[in-house]
Amino acid sequence: MSYRAELAAALDAVSRAARLCRNVQSELVDASTLEKKDRSPVTVADFGAQAVVSSVLQEAFPNDPMVGEESSEELRAQPNLLDVTAKHVNSELPDADEAAVLSAIDRCSDQGGANGRRWVLDPIDGTKGYLRRGQYAIALAMLEDGVVKLGVLGCPSLESSSGDEGCLFFATRGGGTHEHTLGRDGSTAVAVATTSDPAEANFCESVESGHSNHARHERIAEVLGITRESYRIDSQCKYAAVSRGQASIYLRLPTSATYQEKIWDHAAGSIVVEEAGGKVTDIEGRDLDFSLGRTLLRNRGIIATNGLLHDRVIDAVRTTSGS
Ligand code: AMP
Ligand code: MG
Repeated sequence: MSYRAELAAALDAVSRAARLCRNVQSELVDASTLEKKDRSPVTVADFGAQAVVSSVLQEAFPNDPMVGEESSEELRAQPNLLDVTAKHVNSELPDADEAAVLSAIDRCSDQGGANGRRWVLDPIDGTKGYLRRGQYAIALAMLEDGVVKLGVLGCPSLESSSGDEGCLFFATRGGGTHEHTLGRDGSTAVAVATTSDPAEANFCESVESGHSNHARHERIAEVLGITRESYRIDSQCKYAAVSRGQASIYLRLPTSATYQEKIWDHAAGSIVVEEAGGKVTDIEGRDLDFSLGRTLLRNRGIIATNGLLHDRVIDAVRTTSGS
């Protein structure tokens, strides 16, 4: 299947959400936001992006369920935030009133599962990156019977391969991965790095040390003989980096024994890497299982690579376990 209609709707939805996130950031985020611990800008953008994507998909595919990270409770409790959010949604969707914004957000309450088709959305992946003007992504995927068939990663602050700020990656199963510069026409196919020698490789990891185990990553890199410094970057932009060969490995070793990775943090990113020729598993080399609800219940951590390096990385993970 080519998923043409689905891809067109997903690209439209993510492009609009990306524009909304940029607008909110340019108007509201000043340098003091982080120090003041004021999360309202990211709250507005998070809810606004989910409302926009949900509304666009509802129009195109009214019967498809959606799994989204946010629910509207916080917004219902804060009328000022709802007012600002609705204004931003209106610049993308002029007919949406406050009630429509709330119901679009709440439409994303599907619990996931193994049967049928559903969309999976992280409206702003990497909220910490968004607040400090680092990287973030709008991540949208479509699943059929628990298998990712389409993924779109909007990366509004990431430099495109042509040197412009803001790009988007999209992939369909069997159709490859493409990069598009936001606000421009056209797209180009991307491919993972061709190196099979770990000594030439580099790896990316989260900026936030609470999200993955940096010390363990360092030991894995040592075992592999990687000498290049790690590329720290927020959000699923890490998958984008692997898909276009900017990094050959993405390490996400867990920081706790109980954390379950969320499906919206990996669905879009994983197909973007796979369709560019790479491989994505958990840290024990198991395929990611997106069919078990809102989390990757049976997986631990994430390893994404250009494919050629995958087995070596999984071996290195094993070598460093317990150390
Ligand atoms: P990143 O920018 O790659 O660090 O990932 C951001 C994502 O990390 C967020 O969307 C959260 O869902 C997720 N996250 C939050 N806490 C943890 C944790 N303890 N371990 C792994 N991921 C986490
Ligand atoms: Mg996220």
